[in-house]
Amino acid sequence: MVRSIYDNTAFCSVKFATELAQNHQRDEEFSEHVKFIYEDFKEDKTLLNPYFIDGYAVFIACSLANHSCKENIGWHTVGDVMYWTALVDIPKGTEITISYTFPSIRPKRIQYFQDNYGFICDCPLCSGPIDPWRAFKCSCGGIIYPEPEGYKCHSCEYICTEEEINQFNEEEDFIIDMEKLKRHKAYYNPLRKMHDTHLFLFKAMRKYVSLKSCPNPLEIFEQYLIPVAKYQVQFSHGRVFAAVLEQYGVALIKYSKIMPDLYEYCKNKALESFQMAYDYRCSLGMGRTGYAAAVLQEHLDILDPKNLNNFVEYDEY
Ligand SMILES: [Zn+2]
Ligand SMILES: [Zn+2]
Repeated sequence: MVRSIYDNTAFCSVKFATELAQNHQRDEEFSEHVKFIYEDFKEDKTLLNPYFIDGYAVFIACSLANHSCKENIGWHTVGDVMYWTALVDIPKGTEITISYTFPSIRPKRIQYFQDNYGFICDCPLCSGPIDPWRAFKCSCGGIIYPEPEGYKCHSCEYICTEEEINQFNEEEDFIIDMEKLKRHKAYYNPLRKMHDTHLFLFKAMRKYVSLKSCPNPLEIFEQYLIPVAKYQVQFSHGRVFAAVLEQYGVALIKYSKIMPDLYEYCKNKALESFQMAYDYRCSLGMGRTGYAAAVLQEHLDILDPKNLNNFVEYDEY
């Protein structure tokens, strides 16, 4: 995976990068700028972890693409070339967009873009009527989403009262305030208002399944994480779905270590899951960017339990 260092260039100063790219008299200044960022980048030990990174790059033209939470382009790199793949049919004259980040609930991501990039996202997902990442339970079994005219159930069309909305907000605040590692407990609370597909629960459970203290990670993957991730695909890019499939593959391998009798079963299941993740990423034009998939394809025989220690959990959030 190539991590472009444009996090520190184009996002902060598209204008600057454009000027430099167009003006060859300023090549030297540009090289200085890149060097400066590179030095800065080296400081960050996580990013230098060889399992996360195999190169540095600045892609000037590509950096000019604006963000959309529902982008129309996926990208990957081969050597020093970046390839863009259309994720949908793009009519002539339509702006090409990429995603700068991973899903979060609408108020949070709007704040994030404002603070970090200085723009207000008006993509279809941010300006559309619903925020699919904030989902609450309706007594009819349907899903309630915040909408401009109120919090509304998409099955029975019930509109929530002010009091109910306050309860939703309180519950969200409560899970945010909880100690990170204990957030999964919110999922097991039968009285919770958050729907299974609420992003906060989903993130908490993704964390939980990789903890040693989680007694049944495989069950949580199969019954909860994979179906919800699949459901989320309609609202966003599918990178999270692919990442969950990879995470499941890793969990299977770990499990086979404790249950040697199930080694063959787990190995085959893991292979299947990694392959699905890889295929899914390919369909998004980013096959090679999958961490576990790339490991599987290129680097290690991960199915050998002794290589497991080389794994670094790939957390996409
Ligand atoms: Zn947006
Ligand atoms: Zn309802």
